[in-house]
Amino acid sequence: MSDTPQSSPIVSASGPDNPLLKAWQTPFQTAPFGEIGPEHFLPAFEQAFIDHAAEVAAITHDPSAPDFANTIIALERSGRLLAKVSAIFYNLVSAHSNPELLEIDKDVSSRLARHWNPIMMNAVLFGRIAQLHENRTALGLTAEQLRLLERTYTRFHRAGAGLDEAAKARMAAINERQAHLGTTFSHHLLRDEQEWFLELGEDDLDGLPDSFIAAARAAAEERVLPGKAIVTTSRSSVETFLKSSRRRDLREKVYKAFTARGDNGNANDNNATIVEILALREEAAQLLGYPSFAVYRLEDSMAKTPEAARGLLERVWKPARARALADRDALQGLIAEEGGNFTLASWDWRYYAEKLRQIRADFDDAAIKPYLTLEGMIAAAFDCAHRLFGLSFSERKDIPTWHPDVRVWEVMDAAGKHQALFYGDYFARASKRSGAWMTTLRDQQTLDGDIAPLVINVCNFAKGADDQPALLSPDDARTLFHEFGHGLHGMLSNVTYPSLSGTSVFTDFVELPSQLYEHWQEQPQVLRQFAKHYQTGEPLPDDLLERFLAARQFNQGFATIEFVASALMDLEFHSQPASTISDVGAFERAGLEKIGMPAEIAMRHRPTQFGHIFSGDHYAAGYYSYMWSEVMDADAFGAFEETGDIFDQQTAKRLHDDIYSSGGSRDPAEAYIAFRGRKPEPEALLRRRGLLETPQAA
Ligand SMILES: [Zn+2]
Repeated sequence: MSDTPQSSPIVSASGPDNPLLKAWQTPFQTAPFGEIGPEHFLPAFEQAFIDHAAEVAAITHDPSAPDFANTIIALERSGRLLAKVSAIFYNLVSAHSNPELLEIDKDVSSRLARHWNPIMMNAVLFGRIAQLHENRTALGLTAEQLRLLERTYTRFHRAGAGLDEAAKARMAAINERQAHLGTTFSHHLLRDEQEWFLELGEDDLDGLPDSFIAAARAAAEERVLPGKAIVTTSRSSVETFLKSSRRRDLREKVYKAFTARGDNGNANDNNATIVEILALREEAAQLLGYPSFAVYRLEDSMAKTPEAARGLLERVWKPARARALADRDALQGLIAEEGGNFTLASWDWRYYAEKLRQIRADFDDAAIKPYLTLEGMIAAAFDCAHRLFGLSFSERKDIPTWHPDVRVWEVMDAAGKHQALFYGDYFARASKRSGAWMTTLRDQQTLDGDIAPLVINVCNFAKGADDQPALLSPDDARTLFHEFGHGLHGMLSNVTYPSLSGTSVFTDFVELPSQLYEHWQEQPQVLRQFAKHYQTGEPLPDDLLERFLAARQFNQGFATIEFVASALMDLEFHSQPASTISDVGAFERAGLEKIGMPAEIAMRHRPTQFGHIFSGDHYAAGYYSYMWSEVMDADAFGAFEETGDIFDQQTAKRLHDDIYSSGGSRDPAEAYIAFRGRKPEPEALLRRRGLLETPQAA
């Protein structure tokens, strides 16, 4: 706080002048982003906390006996302002932050924990929920209502509502500290990412594709370095550079900076934060009666136990490692052929893998990129949604957004009825955190009227320079479909209760709609229609398409290893006694040695930059979820392939009804079996990654 009296900014931004507290006159009552300033958030949160606490108190103090309506539904109706303000705030913090917002975030994250603790641990409230849960079969509930009651009970129980007072007090303190540490972790990472870039001189461009150089100039422009070109720490910038730069010295620099994020011993260092987070997670799990955070976390998932999750990862690890080691030898051979007198290092892998791919599959990413315009791939994603689910999309220029680059589409269902708004925020910028994600500003529900969802996709694609269209790498195109798959899960949601809406499902189920959607992106009939050269408009030539599809399984050993190592390490961090993890780097090295990690491959996310598991606890002990979901998505796409039509209408209808529209209203294992007629078979995953036949390791 500055020397301004604390009350003054709050008074000036509260009441009728605060756009966050007013009724919105915008189309579809969307947030008026242009009117919302950082100063509006604290007073809006303040009001939201008061409203929500009063709503919960009314439930708690209700003199009538608990029933489904006065307790469970009343809880569903509570906290609307808080949900609204939080959604807008966290969207800005992630997608378009500034120092002022980050400062507020520090405050808000602790206050949110302080607000939720007394609600989630309220003994009287939990007593009402528990009584209903006890009698649940006698209440005459629908299947969705029964599911809502079970999820509500489980959420309170797992938050510690049944603990004694001393344990609750400790749990509350832990939650508050955890919230602070998660925010610290992500702010550190964001600052390390913002502070680092590599300026490229004219001699440093050797091997770099034109599209990369254009993007590097645009990135420099954005950081007010006109006329320069820079490599940033965004994944697409780093990976393209590592694939294509002939300058081994610069590759080393970029690789080291990328993998050192959060681990630089500077003010942004995340090592101490991790140690404290792990200790607190373990303590909280033990207060609740679990031996470790991983056991606690996995109990409420499809996998159920860390052993089951690890079992899947290890099944994939073996053939992937053998493949990666065979590839490593081939890459070393390539270096020798070129007369190189050095051992393959981590910063060489992508470069030589790309060369090997050009030799073996006669294909490189740069050849296809001119055909993968952002515009074309958006159109492809929309068209697939039209053919599968009957959706249509029309761009709206009258919806307020948080940045001029953000685009908005109105989504209509097959009958022409309004279904959702879809916001696409596609380009990298310094104010955006790295990665790609889907989120919502408003979730679908029908509890009080037909509420249509507001769904957001955020990506970090490079802009095209000088009025050139933005071109995507195959990875980028896949990411676009991935996030759009999550988006469909939000847009097609058709449930009654807000807490069961859209993506409110188990973490190891939530990647099914997104990863499944990726399959359509790489179908020849989709690419033939939507991959057109950005200058000539010519469709992707058949031979290039064939080579592209053939090259897909290339380097899958590497890709699988970098993912599975991160997932195994995540489980290890949350299974081993926290007292044994005082040196994160040493723990990481020991863990990698134990699984036989090839020295030339780094984890996809090293611990100090592993935002999935340390920025919050959503994916903590849950990073395996991507692979768990992949077992289902590889198997699920087979349902279409078996009909001979990737848009088969009957299969698409089951997919809509059982997976994309049912949100958390059903048990996910049951929902999957309803769609597929049986449990998923993991062979489909190994086949898709080309790992069914194990090569001989050298
Ligand atoms: Zn995802």
